Amino acid sequence: MPRITCSVNNCHYWSSGNVCDASQILITSDAMSHSQPQNVDAPMAGSISATPVKSSAETCCKTFVAKGSAEKNADGITRK
Ligand code: SF4
Repeated sequence: MPRITCSVNNCHYWSSGNVCDASQILITSDAMSHSQPQNVDAPMAGSISATPVKSSAETCCKTFVAKGSAEKNADGITRK
């Protein structure tokens, strides 16, 4: 996976230097992220419908999970 940089430092996958340490991530529309549970994430990407948006402000990282959250293992994603 290419190097992903991210400034969301309260995410479980965030690492110093603003690097994302997740094994994979899912970027999607804000609307899709709000409507789907935590377990819907990158491992399911092949079966997720397209989610067009009008600007970058309408996209988000669906893989985000807060540090210490009990849901950190819900989606099959690990730290690299
Ligand atoms: S999973 Fe998403 S929000 Fe979390 S560090 Fe990686 S890119 Fe940022």
